[in-house]
Amino acid sequence: MRQYLLNIWNAFWTVLVGMRLTWRHLFIPAVTVQYPDERWTLPPNSRMQLFVNIDDCIGCRQCERACPVECITIDLIKAVPEDEREASTGHKVRFHVTKFDIDMAKCCYCNLCTIPCPTECIYMTPSYEDAAPDRFDLIYHFAKIPPEKIPELEEKARRFEEEEAAKKTKKKAAVAAN
Ligand code: SF4
Ligand code: SF4
Repeated sequence: MRQYLLNIWNAFWTVLVGMRLTWRHLFIPAVTVQYPDERWTLPPNSRMQLFVNIDDCIGCRQCERACPVECITIDLIKAVPEDEREASTGHKVRFHVTKFDIDMAKCCYCNLCTIPCPTECIYMTPSYEDAAPDRFDLIYHFAKIPPEKIPELEEKARRFEEEEAAKKTKKKAAVAAN
């Protein structure tokens, strides 16, 4: 009989000890955030989704070179002089950015791409809730030039280069003749 009562006490005591943390937390205010109804205020400079203000991108490719996981892909076409323009920072824009993709599924949020950007047009946003059911939806496209316009720009650049090459050859020939 004594052993029987001892076993009951042991079982009761074990539950009490096992639930010690639970009991204690019953009297401590909850710290769990009921996401998505509630959200933490994230600290300044938190690293989140990237954004590119493509109008200010000069196509220098420094961000692409800085990226350790090669998740930035940029395609450029040289702009002819009459198509050159200025970014809002005053930098000359000498290229048409025909492709500027960032694969956010590969991005490790190191922030290294934003540091060398001369116009500060690539930066981290406060957005971190952009999950997607398809991984390809995580490739963000920032270029604005429509694909059907690309052959025209390529042709323009090719003709300009040919004209420049012809001018140089003519100039060299004139110098040689003198
Ligand atoms: S944050 Fe890092 S990994 Fe992501 S795109 Fe920039 S350089 Fe690449
Ligand atoms: S570093 Fe900045 S300006 Fe240069 S290609 Fe990247 S986003 Fe564009």
